[in-house]
Amino acid sequence: MTQEQGTYLGSLPKFSRAAVVSQFGQPLEIKQVPMPETLEPGALIVKTTACSICGTDVHLSRGNLALKVDLPVILGHEMVGRVVAIGAGAERDSVGQPVRIGDRILWTHTSCGSCYFCTVTQQPTLCENRRMYMYENCEKPPYLLGGFSEYGYVLPDSGRVRVPDNVDDAVASLCSCAFRSVMNAFDNLGAIEPSEHVVIQGAGPLGILAAAVASVQGARSVTVIGAPAKRLDLAKEFGATHVLDIDSTTHEERLAVVRQMTDGRGPDVVLEFTGFPGAFNEGLDLVRRGGRYLTVGQLSAGTTTFSPSTIVKKNIRVIGSFSGDVKSYWKALQFASAHMDRIPFRKMITGQYALADVNLALERMHRLEEIKPLILMDL
Ligand SMILES: [Zn+2]
Ligand SMILES: [Zn+2]
Repeated sequence: MTQEQGTYLGSLPKFSRAAVVSQFGQPLEIKQVPMPETLEPGALIVKTTACSICGTDVHLSRGNLALKVDLPVILGHEMVGRVVAIGAGAERDSVGQPVRIGDRILWTHTSCGSCYFCTVTQQPTLCENRRMYMYENCEKPPYLLGGFSEYGYVLPDSGRVRVPDNVDDAVASLCSCAFRSVMNAFDNLGAIEPSEHVVIQGAGPLGILAAAVASVQGARSVTVIGAPAKRLDLAKEFGATHVLDIDSTTHEERLAVVRQMTDGRGPDVVLEFTGFPGAFNEGLDLVRRGGRYLTVGQLSAGTTTFSPSTIVKKNIRVIGSFSGDVKSYWKALQFASAHMDRIPFRKMITGQYALADVNLALERMHRLEEIKPLILMDL
């Protein structure tokens, strides 16, 4: 570590206030978590400015995740931060832009660059040595691997991208987990032709963002299926040409509507962002023969029953898409930057909370009273 980098660390506080899950199902505690004593080559320390809440945060805090969590952890993984210390060799981001003290960045879960999935299949979200933020014990160095914290530590193997100046903290935090997953999904899907009809299952943040991307990509129609009506209205503002409310329509009615729109064939592309296993069956029914069905929203342990013969007889291409790598973060930020005037990204941020009110924000998220609440560290 150079003298200068050492000085930066020395000028930082010794502790970071952070919202910690010590026990599943219990309220988060605001704790003083130690700052890392050293900065590894390639690592960064950031002052977190904002961190939006994801459904996964709610599931983790309640102990409902099918992933290993090494308690106690700092919750939150949709964070944006300003760089306050730069490790040796970390002077550029993953696309070659300079990273300076004060720049805002997003960063990814890690990929090692030297395993089968990183190298041979080039699917870094499947990295065998992946480390993820908010899953690691905050009593062990480097401590600050979660978003609801005044400071955060960017691991050397994390991709990182500078946030464009016209993308504010609220929208930047959307571009982390939520929007990068959508961008990765569109990459996995492949191009959408201007003649193609797209149906999106789910009117949560991912479904609404997907409506924007499908619209910008030039889909002939974009139909969002979901609830409640308020979210469907927002989906329209993001680019949906049609919406279908699952609270007031049956499966058969929805099928009839989308078939009527598509000369009886069904949509060419169906994208699933619901989190409900049963939605998979409806997706298979909706998509046209020979169409593409991509599923993103299924991360719970839930199951469903379906007829595999539907996939065969309709010759459907079923595609799974998990998380997103640094390319997807970059694409999400670029999309937001380019379409800031046209798409009302800010309307997705339904509430702003101080770190001390994180439990209230999580509770409201759980009750679906919020689409994307934001924790602001300086509020
Ligand atoms: Zn790897
Ligand atoms: Zn998330």
